Amino acid sequence: RQVAPVSPIAVDTTCGYCGVGCALTVHVADGGVDQITPDRRGPVNRGHACVKGRFAYGFATSPDRLTTPLIRDGDRLAPASWEDALALIGERIGGVIGRHGPDAVAAISSARATNEENYLMQKLMRAVVGTNNVDNCSRICHAPSAAGLTAAFGLAGGTNPAEDIERAGCLLVAGANPTEAHPVIGARIRQRALSGAKLVVIDPRRTELAALADVHLAARPGSNVAVFNGLARIMLEQGWTDPGFLADRADGLDILREQLRRFSPERVAQLSGVAPPALREAARLYGTAQTPMIIYGLGVTEHAHGTDGVRTLANLAILRGAVGTQHGGGVNPLRGQNNVQGASDMGALPDLLPGYRPVADAQARARCAQVWGCPVPDRAGLRIPEMFDAALDGRLRALYVFGENIAQTDPDSGHVRAALAACEFVVCQEIFLTDTARLADVVLPGASFLEKDGTFVNFDRRFQRVRPALPTPGSARADFAIIQAVAAALGGDLGCATPAAALDECARVAPLFAGVSHARLDREGPLHWPCRSTDDPGQPRLHLRSFATPNGRAQLAAREWLPPGEQPDEAYPYVLITGRRLTHYNAGTMTRRTPNLALQPHETLDMHPADAAALGLRDGAAVEITSRRGSVTATARLTSEMALGQVFMAFHFPDVAANLLTSAAVDEVTSCPEYKVTAVQLRPR
Ligand code: SF4
Repeated sequence: RQVAPVSPIAVDTTCGYCGVGCALTVHVADGGVDQITPDRRGPVNRGHACVKGRFAYGFATSPDRLTTPLIRDGDRLAPASWEDALALIGERIGGVIGRHGPDAVAAISSARATNEENYLMQKLMRAVVGTNNVDNCSRICHAPSAAGLTAAFGLAGGTNPAEDIERAGCLLVAGANPTEAHPVIGARIRQRALSGAKLVVIDPRRTELAALADVHLAARPGSNVAVFNGLARIMLEQGWTDPGFLADRADGLDILREQLRRFSPERVAQLSGVAPPALREAARLYGTAQTPMIIYGLGVTEHAHGTDGVRTLANLAILRGAVGTQHGGGVNPLRGQNNVQGASDMGALPDLLPGYRPVADAQARARCAQVWGCPVPDRAGLRIPEMFDAALDGRLRALYVFGENIAQTDPDSGHVRAALAACEFVVCQEIFLTDTARLADVVLPGASFLEKDGTFVNFDRRFQRVRPALPTPGSARADFAIIQAVAAALGGDLGCATPAAALDECARVAPLFAGVSHARLDREGPLHWPCRSTDDPGQPRLHLRSFATPNGRAQLAAREWLPPGEQPDEAYPYVLITGRRLTHYNAGTMTRRTPNLALQPHETLDMHPADAAALGLRDGAAVEITSRRGSVTATARLTSEMALGQVFMAFHFPDVAANLLTSAAVDEVTSCPEYKVTAVQLRPR
């Protein structure tokens, strides 16, 4: 049981919602949160916070919190002791390993949890179970960023800090609606645009930033690669590039130039719906601005060709010489969840050890083996979508789901639920009885971010401290302690007596983080990785002297446009885009248990008024949305933010399960699902 801090009045911590990483102060009174205030010292938020981080904390003391382990008893989950729950896990997972081998077990780690907990989870799977079957939800959001940025620049992180927004002469925002999904960064972008920077927005929806932009390219969903290639071609034709940078620091220009011959503005217009004059103006604004900066989101990555999207977007920064310089700029993914960057940094990935060292690299394995005192498996494990397929064909028998509501958030929910049902044994570690927890054999009650001790890494690679302000409720435990107890139940010992010790151990196996420790973060404040020694101040801007690719040069990528996995047709004539809204967060498990519910009590289907009129739908009417995989009913919201033929909904409400509709198409490189293009039909209810 986690011990409450002694007489806390105000606890400095980091927001547990989105990847911006706002510094917050939690004011505690009478055993609960009195209020949360944004910390003026926070380097990213500088005294600001949004409606989630500032006000949506009531979930932590909700009567719905899980306060005791649960064990399946027929159709119901019955309260149980920790001893019984852990003994059952040891027996059942141990039995699966004994009968089918360690690769019949897999874990989905948590982007909501701390670095230290993610480090322990991947160590549990590799060192105790003996498999690389561990993944995290970056698989379903920013895996194409990791793959694309690594291929282009050599490291899997965004290249520049948030501070560079204020230095940018042009901001190119692609596939992101930060006003709603990353509000504090959205506000910084808006402020910068209002104070003189040019703003180019590439997004099918007319978002708040799109309405403010100098140029809005309303590209059809699935057409990013064509648009980015079109911009690159115009920049090359017009000489809006940096020849010195290209000669000294980049490879691949000739092959790219040849590829771009196929991307005339007229062809791009056919593929994307973007008019040639707008494309030319966007290229001019980005290509001629001082220090142009690219910021992008899941509208670039969550596609069947998401990694190609990241590569062709990175091409623009390389052509312009706007990456790897002290001046700013760069290519910067807006990470979704609070610690999705850190979960991957810590090696909760099937092919990468802590610090992005491949499991196939004998030296990297040897280093972990030396520190952990056991061999490390060398074969890459299963990615999350592969886990579901493996469960259905019998290769995977036991699944440990930590802090992810996969039955609601992963695509094609029917397939996910069938996979969970097919497993012999499912463990779910959660704070509420989510749709996923309801399907588990054992449920372990964990801690909310307000009860955690450790660190998160935000979207611009900043390690920041997370400190406990509340005790865990009932007999719920710190997740760090739970993972250690599961290891013990399986006959293992993860060491690392405290979260600080776990980060210290991670620093010994991952050179990228060798200089990071709790003591240093407490003393000096946030640190950017890479931070390779205790006197390394960290690197807010990457690749200043050379890129981290094998030859030290940035890599341009020549990519053809390929169609999305699913296109609208006569039977399913509309394109559904899914995403987030301002007041809620992901599965809504937390925000629906706060006053934010009153701000948006139910899900809507956003659609153009003309589409609604053609279907005889009024604002507020019930509309049935059907894809090839299922149907849900939502309330129509008529808005000219949407283009004709396109509709939008979020996945915050389980009763309007958007992911019953989404397709199983995935990025060909990373298996990231195509959440942004689903062909649907609409019908008034
Ligand atoms: Fe939290 Fe993100 Fe809002 Fe900041 S912008 S308060 S990190 S949800």
